[in-house]
Amino acid sequence: MKVALAGIGKIALDQHVPSIAASPDWELACTVSRSGRVDGVEAFADLPAMLEARPDVPVVSLCMPPVPRYAYAEAALLAGRHVMLEKPPGATLAEVHALQTLAAARGLTLFATWHSRMAKGVPGAKAWLADKTITRAHITWREDVRKWHPGQDWVFEPGGMGVFDPGINALSILTEILPRPVHLTGAELEFPENRQTPIAARLQFTGAVSADFDWRQEGPQTWDIDIETDAGPLALRHGGNLLLIDGEPVEGGPEAEYPALYARMTELVSAGRSEVDLAPMVHVADAMTLGRRIVTDPFDF
Ligand code: NAP
Repeated sequence: MKVALAGIGKIALDQHVPSIAASPDWELACTVSRSGRVDGVEAFADLPAMLEARPDVPVVSLCMPPVPRYAYAEAALLAGRHVMLEKPPGATLAEVHALQTLAAARGLTLFATWHSRMAKGVPGAKAWLADKTITRAHITWREDVRKWHPGQDWVFEPGGMGVFDPGINALSILTEILPRPVHLTGAELEFPENRQTPIAARLQFTGAVSADFDWRQEGPQTWDIDIETDAGPLALRHGGNLLLIDGEPVEGGPEAEYPALYARMTELVSAGRSEVDLAPMVHVADAMTLGRRIVTDPFDF
């Protein structure tokens, strides 16, 4: 299947381009980006020009930040193309609902991807937890924003979500593996005094579930989920790519999240289905609604 990749920046070049190149199912037909390019691939500077020139490309995969993404998704769906959305799927919940309605009305596939759900330990964790009683769960998601988003000021602009940009990855795992849903009951959000979005967040949910997100961690990075149950502890490490039960590794392997996303898109398009689960984003919206604001030191890249 031919795919057009739009928004040629960090994640497109780090993950999408190699995953498409390695897949027997996909061909990178062209790119859409104001400045980004992929060697040897036809490049368009704007989406309308690509949609006009390449009616043979049925799928558009959108890799730009969430705020500009809606306009691209709407235009691609209106032009009869299936659409893949990077995470988080939009800047607001309502705009993703609008895309869902549009895709359904046109019989097109809309896939709101959550790459962390494709981590190696996630299906095993979900299966093991299905018949357990969870007594406590805690997420520790601490990374260095300068390493993962070098110079990307959009993460600190309205709609950029701040530390929830990585934190939503943890929430996408949590909402996938818990046997029963939880909801947010409180949050503390630390905003740098010169920025619009939080650099750290501490969240409380029903069911003794909590989360600690921080973007100021230098040195080793931490992407851990620890769950206590009536049958012993379960832990996910390395962003979900290693599963431990009772402290013993039971499942894991090299990270291959993006190839799995494109394999899933193949299945969805073939089956004429969409997949849009907004549960992780609901928790972020609730944290922004309920969160107590703490002003902290200014942050600059
Ligand atoms: P990025 O490099 O800052 O942006 C990607 C590309 O989007 C840019 O190269 C730019 O290309 C285009 N873009 C930026 N602002 C735009 C605008 N206002 N209108 C149209 N296009 C615009 O960001 P990224 O790190 O790749 O992140 C993009 C998405 O991927 C985010 O939703 C993020 O959460 C997700 N993601 C990122 C990572 C990561 O490690 N960084 C990991 C997983 C997922 P042009 O200027 O050439 O058009």
